[in-house]
Amino acid sequence: MKYSLDNLPFSNTFAALPPAFYSRVAPTPFETEPTLIHFNTQVAALLDLDPTVQHDPRFVEAFSSRRRLPGMDPIAMLYAGHQFGHYVPQLGDGRAIILGETTNQRGEKWELQIKGSGQTPYSRGSDGRAVLRSSIREYLCSEAMHGLGIPTTRGLCLIGSADEVHRERVETGAMLTRLAPSHVRFGSFEVFYYRDQHEQVRVLADYVITQHYPELADQPDRYLRFLQTVIERTARLIAQWQAVGFAHGVMNTDNMSILGLTLDYGPYGFMEAYDPGFICNHSDHHGRYAFDQQPQVGLFNLSCLAQALLPLLEIEAARAALEGYQARFIEHYHHLMAQKLGFAQPDEAVVHLLEELLAQMHASRTDYTLLFRALSEVSLDSNEGAAALRDRFIDRERFDLWLDGYRTHLRASARDDATRRPAMLATNPKYVLRNYLAQVVIEKAEQGDYAEIERLLTVLRAPFDEHPQQARYAETPPAWADNIQVSCSS
Ligand code: AMP
Ligand code: MG
Repeated sequence: MKYSLDNLPFSNTFAALPPAFYSRVAPTPFETEPTLIHFNTQVAALLDLDPTVQHDPRFVEAFSSRRRLPGMDPIAMLYAGHQFGHYVPQLGDGRAIILGETTNQRGEKWELQIKGSGQTPYSRGSDGRAVLRSSIREYLCSEAMHGLGIPTTRGLCLIGSADEVHRERVETGAMLTRLAPSHVRFGSFEVFYYRDQHEQVRVLADYVITQHYPELADQPDRYLRFLQTVIERTARLIAQWQAVGFAHGVMNTDNMSILGLTLDYGPYGFMEAYDPGFICNHSDHHGRYAFDQQPQVGLFNLSCLAQALLPLLEIEAARAALEGYQARFIEHYHHLMAQKLGFAQPDEAVVHLLEELLAQMHASRTDYTLLFRALSEVSLDSNEGAAALRDRFIDRERFDLWLDGYRTHLRASARDDATRRPAMLATNPKYVLRNYLAQVVIEKAEQGDYAEIERLLTVLRAPFDEHPQQARYAETPPAWADNIQVSCSS
């Protein structure tokens, strides 16, 4: 059975918490006519929502805040957070509203949120709007991450308008409906800890555990286990980011999901020419959130969370849990990178091969995605694939040496081409969301042409497949892409 707009079941467990956790809000519709830019059939399927609802005018009305469907209970969540290392005591959903949760027939709850739906008590003087450009970037990237197998929020639909929104230039406003089992952030705990409202920290922890970590609910040490689980999920998430070359750009604690999801896509970027110091956010002048800083920032953010949970924990136990992070991250990262290199397991030689390869890629500014994809085509028995690889390096003799050592270790690991190649092709994507690809989609959409969204999504949803007709999406950036700047302003 598929739900229609008449019977999509809404509840709102977050709104059942005490009022201190949120504000009831009236979303502000656009002044101009909203138009459906894209409807995500795959995400509709997650909700058991009949995809034909996209043709029902009530759909656009409901997800552009013009109409309230039965059971919707719009609220904005309160949170705080460490932004660029400094504690900011009052943040919250400044331009997002939670509509409620829908439960599919498998019993999975999805919290639906509209981003860009006007001011809330947490807007801090800003307009509560999201521009088309940033909404497209979030929409595309969350699908790309999902296609790569990385936990993320998803996007149900994108709705545009002719309403003017003022940023560095005048742009148009859009609304993105996104979903996740929960949008609770590390900063959701911090706000009550720093206000000395420690009882609220407990209420929120109990809520998150009951709703999202029910296996912990009966454990006497459930708060510690909760922290340990978030540490584990975060370590794994960031290892996955590093393995695909994803930089989040604004890893503030208010953008860190309590469920270990990639959350709040702003000035993110996928690594192209390999550079561990890659900074994707043009406002990040000191490189606090540079690519190679992400694992450490993960630990900093988890420490902020642990601090906020101290009313519920023994300090020594919290410290020990945090001390486990680094090893867990390394274990996940080495495992993923070993797989990218075609080994089932990491060992010392694999780590050494990895480090030397990355050093050579850095020196040659080799394209991260294309290099690992090309490596999948290397043959153990012939020189097939080797010439094309070699050409990606400036110091080819140094690369030849590496390739010799690599082949030797592959042979020793007893993986022949027939098992290794398909495994590598299934772990090294051909397609990632390069900034210039998103930019092309944005520029067309700003002219009213939305067809490119679906074309690009087709490859991003299955990034390990070849898609020979769409191979242009795998290309390295054109020269004009050097001028694309992404920052926090969206
Ligand atoms: P972000 O950098 O997008 O994670 O946003 C940080 C905080 O600023 C969050 O609490 C947002 O809700 C809020 N915010 C960002 N942009 C706007 C906006 N245009 N209007 C109101 N609040 C905003
Ligand atoms: Mg945010």
